[in-house]
Amino acid sequence: LFIAFEGGDGAGKSTQAARLCDALESRGLSVVRTREPGGTPIGEKLRSLVLDHGHGTIDARTEALMFAAARAAHASQVIRPALAAGRVVITDRYIDSSVAYQGAGRGLGAEGVLSLNEWATEGLHPDLTVLLDVEPSDGRERRTAGAAAEDRLESEPDAFHSTIRRAFLDLAAAAPTSYLVLPAKAEIGTLAAQILERVESLLV
Ligand code: C5P
Repeated sequence: LFIAFEGGDGAGKSTQAARLCDALESRGLSVVRTREPGGTPIGEKLRSLVLDHGHGTIDARTEALMFAAARAAHASQVIRPALAAGRVVITDRYIDSSVAYQGAGRGLGAEGVLSLNEWATEGLHPDLTVLLDVEPSDGRERRTAGAAAEDRLESEPDAFHSTIRRAFLDLAAAAPTSYLVLPAKAEIGTLAAQILERVESLLV
């Protein structure tokens, strides 16, 4: 079973991914929790390259290719082997993030970014995508509440984050049976319970 968490910055994806992982492990399942960009040594290097301030502008196509490169490694080295071994894979971000950030946010368009990522992952899609829908102003509060400085992309204005949000919602609306869309500002335990219920329905 392959589950992706998606949503804007500050949506609480990593908190919910961790909660779900713990809940499934306590039921005796073997779970791999991973993240993008990252998840492999080359992916982590690409992550720091693409997210660091300091090497000037990265144009949109370069950025899309870097995320897709990280994802190709992630799909072939981490996700596919784990699924083949019968493990549950939970990833914090996947293809939808590229469609939202590079496709919509950076204006490359959904179609090109989707086909790039189809190629990169050899068509590997999640069984379920949990979309934590975050309003840009809530996301900003959560991002700045943390001690860490915002990275290059998190510091984009609210309009950018609104565009991202719309793109995630459009993807979910196009394939509603593969998505669970929840309001990110709901209580953490309530969200965790709703997510677990949906995932359990896929396990039987
Ligand atoms: O979710 P996480 O904080 O790990 O994401 C790191 C950053 O990468 C975020 O600021 C997000 O905006 C950005 N990102 C992106 N395009 C992707 C994936 C993540 O711009 N495809």
